[in-house]
Amino acid sequence: LSDKLQNVFKNLRSKGRLTEADVKAALKEVKMALLEADVNFKVVKQFIKAVQERAIGQDVMNGLNPGQMVIKIVNEEMVALMGNETTEIALKPGNEITIIMMVGLQGAGKTTTTAKLAGLFKKKGRKPLLAACDIYRPAAIQQLHINGEKQGVEVFSMGDKNKPVDIAKAAVEHASKNGYNTLIIDTAGRLHVDESMMEELQELKKNIQIDQCILVVDAMTGQDAVNVSETFNEKIGIDGVILTKLDGDTRGGAALSIRSVTGRPILYVGMGEKLTDLEQFYPDRMASRILGMGDVLTLIDKVSAEVDEEKAKALEQKMKKAEFGFDDYLESMAQMKKMGGLSSILSMLPGVGSQMKQIEEAMDEKKMAQTEGIILSMTPKERSNPSILNPSRKRRIAQGAGVDISEVNRLVKQFEQMRKVMKSMPKNMGGFPGLGGSK
Ligand code: GDP
Ligand code: MG
Repeated sequence: LSDKLQNVFKNLRSKGRLTEADVKAALKEVKMALLEADVNFKVVKQFIKAVQERAIGQDVMNGLNPGQMVIKIVNEEMVALMGNETTEIALKPGNEITIIMMVGLQGAGKTTTTAKLAGLFKKKGRKPLLAACDIYRPAAIQQLHINGEKQGVEVFSMGDKNKPVDIAKAAVEHASKNGYNTLIIDTAGRLHVDESMMEELQELKKNIQIDQCILVVDAMTGQDAVNVSETFNEKIGIDGVILTKLDGDTRGGAALSIRSVTGRPILYVGMGEKLTDLEQFYPDRMASRILGMGDVLTLIDKVSAEVDEEKAKALEQKMKKAEFGFDDYLESMAQMKKMGGLSSILSMLPGVGSQMKQIEEAMDEKKMAQTEGIILSMTPKERSNPSILNPSRKRRIAQGAGVDISEVNRLVKQFEQMRKVMKSMPKNMGGFPGLGGSK
C-alpha cells in the first residue's frame, strides 16, 4: 500500500449512508471539473442533478469517505453516459464489401483517420481499399495516396474533375472486381457546417450502399464538436464517431455529450499524427480523463479490489447453506475489522440492536486473539460442524486454549447469534457487511 492509501485507511470510519450535504459538497467539485473539461453547461447541470438523485441515501462503501463515494458514483454515471463498453465498427463477414464513409469538418482528421483505419483493418486480415472523394482541398488526393502507401493499402482516385458520387460508384466497382472487402471513402469537409457539404454527403449516401457512416471530430474544438455531431447526425445520419487529437491537452469533455446527443458510440480516438496513433475508445479511461481525478479514481479502484470478491462470494454461499463454520467466523471477523466497524451497518437492520454490542465486543483485539486460540484448539471437524460440540469436547477445547470453559460457551453462543444475524440480513446487503454486495 502506498503511504497515501494507508492514510486513507487509517482515517476511514464507515459512515453509513450519503447525506444530502455529503453529496452536494462533492458534486460542487465535480461540477467545476466538468466545466473545466469543456462539457456543455446544460449537460453538466443535468448530469449533476441525476447523480445527486441517485447518490443521496446510498451506502458508503467501506474504505471510502463520503466524498470518494460520490466520485465513484459520478464515475460510473459518466461511463454509462459514454456507453459502458467499447464498440467495434461492424464489418460484414467474408468477401462481402463493407462500405465506410468518413465525414466531418475540414481539418478534423478524416484523411489521416481513413489511413489509420485501413492499417487497423489490414491487421485484422481485411482487404481495404481507400477512395479519394475530396476533390476540393488542394492536394487532398495526394495526401491520401501518400498515407495509403505508408500503410501498404491501395488508394482509388479519379482526379478532381469527377463528382464525388461518381468516384465513389467507380470505387465500389473497383473493389468488387479486385477482391477488396472493405472500402473506406474519404470525403471533403468545410470549415463550418454548410449546405453544399451536407448535400454532397446526402447524395453519396443516397447512391452508395453505405454500411457505416463515421463522423470524425476534433476533440480540441470542445463543445463545437458536440454541435457538429448533432448536426451531422440529423442531416446525414451517422453510425459512430471518432474523436481525434486527444494527444493534446484537452480533457475531452465533448466525449461525454456526444453519445447522449447522437445516440451513437465513440469508436476510436486519435492520439497523434502518426498512422499508428489510433486507439480503441474506453469509456472508463475517458471518464477518468474528463474528471481529471485520476488519483482518486485509482484509490477507489484499489479499495474496491481490497475485498476479495471470490472469498466473499464463497462465504455468502456458505451462510446461505448454513455451512458457515468457525473458520469462516474467524475470517469474517478479521474482514469486518478491516472494514472498520460494524455498527452503522448492523444498526440499520431491524432487531439486531441488542446483538450488535456483543458482536462489536467480539471484534476487540484481545478478544479476537482469544477467539482465535479457542477456534484453533478445535478439530477441523468441530470447526466446520459446530453442532457436534458437546460438553466433553468443549472441556478439551478450553484446556487446549488455556481458557475457562465459560469462554468457550460464550464463543459458541456468539457464533450461533452471528449465524442468525447473517441469515436475517436483507439480500441486497450482500448477506455480509462490506463483502460482495457492496461493490
Ligand atoms: P481532414 O481535413 O478532416 O481530412 O483532416 P486531416 O486528416 O488532413 O488532418 C488535419 C490535421 O490534423 C493534419 O495535420 C493531421 O496530421 C492532424 N491530425 C489528425 N488526427 C490527429 C490526431 O489524432 N492527433 C494529432 N495531434 N493530429 C492529428
Ligand atoms: Mg481530408
